[in-house]
Amino acid sequence: MNTPEHILVIGACGQIGSELTKALRKKFGTEQVLATDIRPASAVDPEMQPYAQLNVMDKPALSELMQGKQFTQVYHLAAMLSASGERNPQAAWELNMGSLLSVLDLCLARGVKKVFWPSSIAVFGPDSPKQNCPQQGVTEPTTIYGISKAAGENWCKYYFEKHGLDVRSLRYPGLISAGLPGGGTTDYAVDIFHSAAKEEPYTCFLSSETALPMMYMHDAIRATLELMEAPANELSVRTAYNLAALSFTPDQIYQEIKKLVPDFEINYEPDFRQEIADSWPQSIDDSAARKDWNWKPAYDLERMTAEMLSAIKILIPHSF
Ligand code: NAD
Repeated sequence: MNTPEHILVIGACGQIGSELTKALRKKFGTEQVLATDIRPASAVDPEMQPYAQLNVMDKPALSELMQGKQFTQVYHLAAMLSASGERNPQAAWELNMGSLLSVLDLCLARGVKKVFWPSSIAVFGPDSPKQNCPQQGVTEPTTIYGISKAAGENWCKYYFEKHGLDVRSLRYPGLISAGLPGGGTTDYAVDIFHSAAKEEPYTCFLSSETALPMMYMHDAIRATLELMEAPANELSVRTAYNLAALSFTPDQIYQEIKKLVPDFEINYEPDFRQEIADSWPQSIDDSAARKDWNWKPAYDLERMTAEMLSAIKILIPHSF
């Protein structure tokens, strides 16, 4: 008989954590998954229970929380994202790196079997190939967020190779879900749907022709669960797997939304995030993920747009 999983999610209230926690509970049982975040319990949806407030920067508090619980899997999602990180590089580095090192250290000490920590396409920079950026593409990022992810990937590999800690990671592209995003450069692709839902024009902070790798959240969650299920000996990448689904520009997603919301309007006012976007690849080669653990995305732009619009409850009778 399989031993039951005991799972800890850190940063569970964010864009990914809120969806991943639900998916983990569906798979392993609600009581098996403890959600934690820096937010006080009083400010958190009651559906997040079981929940504990945790500042992951407080290593003694994390250690105490893990004491005697025998967690088998830990998902560490707390981070400062690319755009917020450029506004406060020192704090981004401290949170992104400091928390990862505490988590890796405590997971090793407490005998956690598997650890998940997400990386990002932000590990790539202007010298990486723009199209179909390969797994081993040059990783010389220009943002502090990307620098923290590139360093973090190498720490994960180090813990695996030196200590045998089974850490797994994905380089997520920009993720699109009905939940509000947390300060990244691809947030426009979520914000645009919320404007469409309110029947307001959208002002995009990237230029109309800026192509970036993107993915619908359902695919990202499935990829995460599939990676964590894969037999350890079939994983050839111990930094972080390239992961891909879609690549589109603001104009392409606008045109797709317009098919369902014909009066929707957009205008463009690129800001400091344009420079970040311009430093990243436009598309990603994820053949290692496809080969090692059979990764295959399910959502194209059309299907994602229709689901996003209904998820945020835009009722356009002639379209649905
Ligand atoms: P988010 O900002 O939406 O969520 C992060 C969560 O961490 C928030 O709920 C926040 O309250 C919590 N948090 C912040 N500081 C904390 C602390 N000190 N202690 C405990 N919790 C704290 O971010 P997200 O989009 O859900 O991203 C999760 C992870 O995935 C991050 O590592 C991010 O870099 C990575 N990622 C996200 C995307 C994306 O498009 N969303 C793309 C690539 C990689």
